[in-house]
Amino acid sequence: MSTPGTPAVPQPVAGAAAIRVRALHKSFGRNEVLKGIDFHVDQGQVVCVIGPSGSGKSTLLRCVNRLEEPDSGQIIVEGIDICDPETDLDAVRARIGMVFQQFNLFPHMTVLQNLVVAQRKVLKRSKAEAVETARANLAKVGLAEKEKAFPGHLSGGQQQRVAIARALSMNPDMMLFDEPTSALDPELVGDVLDVMKTLASEGMTMMVVTHEMGFAREVGDKLVFMDGGVIVEEGDPVEVLANPRHERTQAFLSKVL
Ligand code: ADP
Ligand code: MG
Repeated sequence: MSTPGTPAVPQPVAGAAAIRVRALHKSFGRNEVLKGIDFHVDQGQVVCVIGPSGSGKSTLLRCVNRLEEPDSGQIIVEGIDICDPETDLDAVRARIGMVFQQFNLFPHMTVLQNLVVAQRKVLKRSKAEAVETARANLAKVGLAEKEKAFPGHLSGGQQQRVAIARALSMNPDMMLFDEPTSALDPELVGDVLDVMKTLASEGMTMMVVTHEMGFAREVGDKLVFMDGGVIVEEGDPVEVLANPRHERTQAFLSKVL
């Protein structure tokens, strides 16, 4: 029951897709970046998004938790319309973990503090519970022994695993990744992908913008190819990568594979 004057905290609708996007349009000034995007991510699915630089992948991902404001269209997260002004956006966002190319850790905080702060502030967890959750997630990404380290003393791959552990510490229903391994030295990519594979195998719903075609093929349930602000082609990753139907997909894959 909601009290008058306080927004109702929206609860996920049973059976709804994790993410459903309909006719999404977004321009920056005169630059139309998303030209009518329709797609969905089912609960427990891993959807990988590929496409050339500037095709709108990051903008799409950022629209899903309204870091970008769509111009028109619908974004439904777990059955809740997140563009509805009545929706408590913070409550929806708390269920969506986000991991960026740049890890965005607080440099002046230890690894443990980085994982604790949002749990305390946003979820109002007790210190003991936040620390316990943080430690469990650090162990999960293989960095239990680094809790007292400062981010600057870690490798890029370790920092990204900390960023993943931080997102997981909020117990999200789904995770959005925007090129999580693109800023990493090649030898550090595998450890981050391994953590993501584990998450996927545990049933985490994931939307992953990536250039790692091996990951998309092995882990993805669906592959979406974007170019010029539209979804050109989507389907089973093995199928799309082996037999792209569209000329534009073929041209892109011939450059990256
Ligand atoms: P991708 O992630 O596929 O490389 P982006 O979604 O980052 O593509 O960008 C798509 C287009 O939108 C690019 O032309 C980019 O310059 C433009 N763009 C992205 N973010 C902004 C912004 N905040 N302001 C203006 N233009 C932007
Ligand atoms: Mg991008």
